[in-house]
Order: sequence, then structure tokens, then C-alpha cells
Amino acid sequence: MRAEVISVGTELLLGDIVDTNAVYIAQQLRSIGLDLIYRTTVGDNEERIARVVDHALSRVDIVIVTGGLGPTVDDKTREGIALATGRPLEFRPELLEQIAERFRRFNVTMSDNNRQQAFVPQGAIPIENPVGTAPIFILETERGAVMVLPGVPREMKHLLDNHLILWLRERIGAPAVIVSRVLRTAGIGESQVDARIADLETASNPTVGLAAHAGQTDIRITAKAATEEDALAMIAPVEEEVRRRVGVWIYGTGQDLLEAVVADLLAASGARVAVVEAGSRGLLGRRLAEAAVRQPALLASAVEVDSAASIADVSLEHPPALESLALHAAVQARLEHNADYGLALMMHTSGEPGAHEAVTSAAIAVASVRASRTRRFEWLDNRPDANVWTSTHALAMLRRMLISAPADGDTLSTAS
Ligand code: ATP
Repeated sequence: MRAEVISVGTELLLGDIVDTNAVYIAQQLRSIGLDLIYRTTVGDNEERIARVVDHALSRVDIVIVTGGLGPTVDDKTREGIALATGRPLEFRPELLEQIAERFRRFNVTMSDNNRQQAFVPQGAIPIENPVGTAPIFILETERGAVMVLPGVPREMKHLLDNHLILWLRERIGAPAVIVSRVLRTAGIGESQVDARIADLETASNPTVGLAAHAGQTDIRITAKAATEEDALAMIAPVEEEVRRRVGVWIYGTGQDLLEAVVADLLAASGARVAVVEAGSRGLLGRRLAEAAVRQPALLASAVEVDSAASIADVSLEHPPALESLALHAAVQARLEHNADYGLALMMHTSGEPGAHEAVTSAAIAVASVRASRTRRFEWLDNRPDANVWTSTHALAMLRRMLISAPADGDTLSTAS
């Protein structure tokens, strides 16, 4: 069974408010295993609402509409649904009585336009709204079911959680759950992950999808089954295959943080790291320090210097020098602080900061007593998140060194 959520409200289209209702509804549908396959937003306009409801009924079984149920002239959801389904609105005196009763209870005078809220499309099943004035309704048609929820988030949640979800559960028959497992990668680009598992991304149950963040790519495997146990059993072989292909780039699962994984690896081997960075606003050291709160001994030092050039007496007029500067800095930091690993991140933006033609260059290096690895990056703009990106790559490279992973893409050298 498939669903579409339609959010009604011109203020959503104007960008005045964020559609948190659709997000909440999506999460609840997922928890009962109902596939949400479209989300649509439409303004407060009767014809346009009718058109999107009609379109939704042509492609899903269940249409959930939120917003536009109020008493004012711009609340057009009822009319739009009536038009789309050919079920004219009819007045239900018992609904008016419910609405009037709420006004009486709160000692507020009911205005004439609240009468609008006692109209529902012919054949609809109304559901009382104990947290607001507008009753909601479910309308079954030969093309599928349409149900409405208020726009006010508190009311919407109450009615969804306490009424519609029960109805939907019954409607979709066999209980089903949707379970996701997220494998977290770092240091490898989204397109490279994609190239390795593209065929798995076309499967339908489980589905495999990618989400990229700065320097990280999440691989989400999602299965739908009768029970959580069954869903996990379906995910397991796909996960195994993804791990076989993406291998050492996967550093964790779920909410695992790269810096915490690195801190645990350092602590497990009793190793200490000295960090030095320039141009990255101290982010690399901060991330490791936060992760090392419980084992402060593993962070031998975290130093932020003014610029890459201040590491050594070298001019930055020749950008390729950045990589050797980073390596030099990593080796020096390790020796100076008597650490097992030196980790360096050097960033430099040429041109006016913020200017279109700015170039951001960065190099990372990790050095141990036996070997070192370096990597270089360049962006043809002044990316505000370049420090997140590069600190993630630096942590990922240190992790690969700690687990002795092959160094695809890293420049390797033997320590002198
Ligand atoms: P009311 O009876 O108050 O008029 P309604 O069902 O007609 O409720 P709307 O008028 O569409 O709902 O929205 C009421 C308020 O609820 C909006 O001003 C907005 O603050 C919030 N709201 C509406 N839709 C959404 C949404 N999709 N996501 C988050 N907030 C929303």
C-alpha cells in the first residue's frame, strides 16, 4: 500500500514556514510500514488542491492532506477534496454541535464562519478533534482513501497518533515495519561509493541509498517486513555485500562519530596523537579533544598555528609545498610531543576570502615512527565547510593508518 502526503498552505510555498508536519507524518507512516512515495505542497487554492488530490488518487492508495481546515475564506481543503472526488460538501449538524460545544466549554463566542467546519464531503467519516475546533475526516472512494489533518502541528500530531494511525494500521492489514541500517563511511567520495554499489541501489526491498555530508557518505539499507527481526534478516546479506565492496572506508554504523571511533582505536592500542593545524579554525583538534574527554591521555597535544607557512620557514607562493608542509608538521608534532602519531591539517585560501575566484587548498598528513600518509585537496571557491571536510578526511586517514588499511588515494612514504 502506498501513500502521498499533501501539505496545504501558501505560507509553505512562500518559504515562511517549514513543512514539519510532512516530516512527522513521514516518520509515523514509516513506523507502521506504509510506503510514502510522494510529498506534495500546494497553496490555499481550491482548484489547485483539487488537482493535486486528483493526481494523488491516480498514483497512491492513501492520500493524507494536512492544513487548510480552518474557518477562514482561505482554508480550502474541504472544497478542494470535494471537487477532486465529486463528493459535494454536506452540512452535518452533529459536527456543528461538537464545534459549538467546544466554544461553550472555553467560554468563547463561536463566529458564523466556524459553521464551515461542519461541512464534510458526502460519505466522509468525521472524527472529532478534541484539541482544536475543526473535525477531521476520512473519505473512502473507489480510487483510494483521502484523509485530512489540521495544519496546526500540535493538533495534527494528536489526531494522527490517536486516530488515523489506528485506522491506517487496520487498513494496511498485515503489520509491517520499515527498518534502516546506516553504514557510515569517511574519506571516500559519494561517487566512488556509488560506483562500487550502484547495482545494489536499484534493488527494491531492501533498498540501498546514499546520503553525503562533508567528507562523509552514509549508506542506508532499508527493509520492510512483518517484524523487525525479519527486516534485519533481510538487511544482513546486503550489508555483508556492501561491506565486501566498500570495506575499510566504513568506519561505523548508526550514529557512530568518526572522532569517537578514532579515539577508541587510539585508546585500545595505548597510542597518543599530536595534532597541528592551520587555517581550519582548530576544528580537527577540537573534534579529537571532544572525543577524548574520557581518555585525555590519547591526545598528546592540539596546536593551532597561524598559517601553514608558520610551521616552517617556507613560502606559500608555490601551493604544492602545502603537502610537504603538512608532512613536515605531522612529523615535527609527533617528535616534539613524544607521541605515536602526528596528525596535521594545513588549509590555505588564496584570493579575497569570499571572492568568486578564491581557491582553497588543503593538505593532511599523518606520521608514525614507521610510515606516513598525505593527501591534498583543492576547491575552486571559498567553501565555508572546507574545515569540516578536511578534518573528517584527516581523522579518516588516521583511522586507516591505525587499522593498517591499504592506502588507496593516499600518498605513502616511509618515515625518515
Ligand atoms: P486552523 O484551524 O488554525 O486554521 P488549519 O488546519 O486550517 O488550522 P492552517 O491554517 O493551514 O491549518 O495552518 C495553521 C498553522 O499551522 C499555520 O499558520 C502554521 O503555523 C502551522 N502549519 C500549517 N501547516 C503546517 C505544516 N505543514 N508544517 C508545519 N506547520 C504548519
